[in-house]
Amino acid sequence: MRGQGLREFAGLRSDEERLDPFELAKYARLLVVPFEDIEQSLSEETVRELLGSSKDKWSGGAASRILPNGYKLIILNPTHPRNRHMATLMEEISHVFLGHKPSRLAIERRDRHGNLIARDYNAAIEEEAYATGAAALVPYSGLKKMIARGKTAGEMARHYGVSRALIEYRIKISRLWPAYSESIFPSKI
Ligand SMILES: [Zn+2]
Repeated sequence: MRGQGLREFAGLRSDEERLDPFELAKYARLLVVPFEDIEQSLSEETVRELLGSSKDKWSGGAASRILPNGYKLIILNPTHPRNRHMATLMEEISHVFLGHKPSRLAIERRDRHGNLIARDYNAAIEEEAYATGAAALVPYSGLKKMIARGKTAGEMARHYGVSRALIEYRIKISRLWPAYSESIFPSKI
């Protein structure tokens, strides 16, 4: 339902309209900066690592320091396609709207044996932000209608400007998989 709230906040009137996180980012006080703009402040080795060997290990990042105007810098992995940027940025926006504290604060949390329990805590927060962002990008009602019209995951992905994997995630989490497989592969009588 929070995904729906974000769509309304973005001024979308139809559940089949495409949400543009790049438009919504400013309301969350996030400033998306091209990777090229920070590249010069990184060592050559770091750049090689980020864009080479580790390019599949990160999707985006937020600067821990807030700018004087209250904005936070967001960098998206430039080796990833636009449809992945949509989900990554939407997750960052969801963190802000859900009031999540930056993860580094959570690291202080320890259990009674003194062990760090931040990992589980962060995983729950990350999942909530990702799920909310995904629901804002691909609302349940729109998904349901398009499935009823026999649309494939690939077609819905192009429609909403997201990856096919995100559409499939939304179909599964919304418990629409039986309806989807029935519409794509109708059972023979
Ligand atoms: Zn996150």
